[in-house]
Amino acid sequence: QNNMLFIRSFMVLFLCCITVKINLCFSGIPYSLKTLTLDGHLNFDEVHNAARDFGNRYQLLPSAVLHPNSVSDIATTVKHIWEMGSHSELTVAARGHGHSLQGQAQAHQGVVINMESLQGPKMQVYAENSFYVDVSGGELWINILHESVKYGLAPKSWTDYLHLTVGGTLSNAGISGQAFQHGPQISNVHQLEVVTGKGEIINCSEKQNSELFHSVLGGLGQFGIITRARISLEPAPDMVKWIRVLYSDFVTFARDQEYLISAEKTFDYIEGFVIVNRTGLLNNWRSSFDPQDPVQASQFKSGGQTLFCLELAKYINKDEKDLVNQEVESSLSVLNYIPSTLFLSEVSYIEFLDRVHVSEVKLRSKGLWEVPHPWLNLFIPQSKIHDFAKEVFGNILAETSNGPILIYPLNKSKWDNRTSVVIPEEDVFYLVAFLSSAVPSSKGTDGLEHILTQNKRILEYCETAHLGVKQYLPHYTTQEQWRSHFGPQWEVFVQRKSTYDPLAILAPGQRIFQKAM
Ligand code: FAD
Repeated sequence: QNNMLFIRSFMVLFLCCITVKINLCFSGIPYSLKTLTLDGHLNFDEVHNAARDFGNRYQLLPSAVLHPNSVSDIATTVKHIWEMGSHSELTVAARGHGHSLQGQAQAHQGVVINMESLQGPKMQVYAENSFYVDVSGGELWINILHESVKYGLAPKSWTDYLHLTVGGTLSNAGISGQAFQHGPQISNVHQLEVVTGKGEIINCSEKQNSELFHSVLGGLGQFGIITRARISLEPAPDMVKWIRVLYSDFVTFARDQEYLISAEKTFDYIEGFVIVNRTGLLNNWRSSFDPQDPVQASQFKSGGQTLFCLELAKYINKDEKDLVNQEVESSLSVLNYIPSTLFLSEVSYIEFLDRVHVSEVKLRSKGLWEVPHPWLNLFIPQSKIHDFAKEVFGNILAETSNGPILIYPLNKSKWDNRTSVVIPEEDVFYLVAFLSSAVPSSKGTDGLEHILTQNKRILEYCETAHLGVKQYLPHYTTQEQWRSHFGPQWEVFVQRKSTYDPLAILAPGQRIFQKAM
């Protein structure tokens, strides 16, 4: 009988070894994944789209793409890979709308989860007592906008572009011109459902599993896959008064921006952008904006100098239009912009929020959307913004820019320091976003190499001048660089990783941790 027991144990051990061997033999081909029972499906052939993103510079082919039909499809797949342990090289990347810039949602020979396939349970708006919406992690913000306005409601904090997913922006921060007042999107979430790196499905909030909740927000996909989110809503306005004014002097521009984000009840949206070497700009605006004084505006000549545009919006409800107009006039009266450059427009709330999509449609029609995008997004402490502007706008980018350069201040008090996102130390800091597009195969100033060299110069300047800058949508290639990015938060980040994704299965495209083999 002992002999039989020994033979049986030996057979079991042998079969286990064979199973592991099969997986190893087909390393890269996740053979055992084919055995999973799923509501949705895994596709092993059409994987090329999952190796692309908006940045158009990194292409890592996965072995399979999961199109989940349920949260349990995601949990089953991750759990399976977790149980294979270090015998398998497989990693998992959730892919929102694939609008990352440097392969962050890709998984080389791993499994990419197409989060947009996760449709159920249906989006649900709650419009009584407190206002919120429950959505899938793969839902696009534009769809949330359309659904919530049916109830007269809308999220409070946005990104400039709405064809991004909830899981994708909440893994970063999600910022736009409303963030000075409401904080980033990660400050406007009540609750999440998350699949961890062990394949567990966990609900979390401020009160329940709060460590996981804060880890995941701004967590670069490292701790769990967001499958559902409860997002805070507010009453939506009918219309938006949209305003642009120009400055030729950065100091005055920044002073006005900082005043506006600190004052009570001025505008609902505050952003700004830098205009490098553009003539005839005001004429371009005339198609959608009206100059307040057409005669004076027509006499304004930029002369090719660098200008700074303050962009503002005030939300309007139809029945209080006169009052809002008075408020706008009063708020503008204390600003120091060039008087002839006041441009106004009135558009619907949806038109305002979905404004970047209009540019997308135009660029797509010219074949200029799917080009390399070597973007650089920086958070700069308020005390250093003048040094930064002088060197970067006055020197490095004095002659040319290859796309919009956004610049606007944010209030740190609206950010929750328990989340994983990294921001500068000071109470006010600026977002400066260089949203460059490269002309494929050009060797000139509009080519990829030239733009990357300029980005490098900007980063080197920040480093040598000790500006205390942090990258937003960060990208690094070594753990040393990540350690320096996180600074004092690094130990907590590592601790969270070892709790929620100890084998480093999730979001390998961020290149922070490597799966242990
Ligand atoms: P993806 O690129 O697919 O994923 C991003 C990261 O999150 C990856 O690491 C991925 O693995 C992870 N991830 C995706 N889904 C989930 C999930 N459900 N759970 C956990 N992890 C997940 N950002 C701003 O803050 N403000 C802006 O105004 C803004 N404007 C933009 C305009 C354009 C045209 C573009 C292309 C990007 C813009 N962004 C902006 C950046 C944007 O927020 C990020 O690129 C974001 O990652 C894109 O979301 P996505 O849904 O495409 O995510």
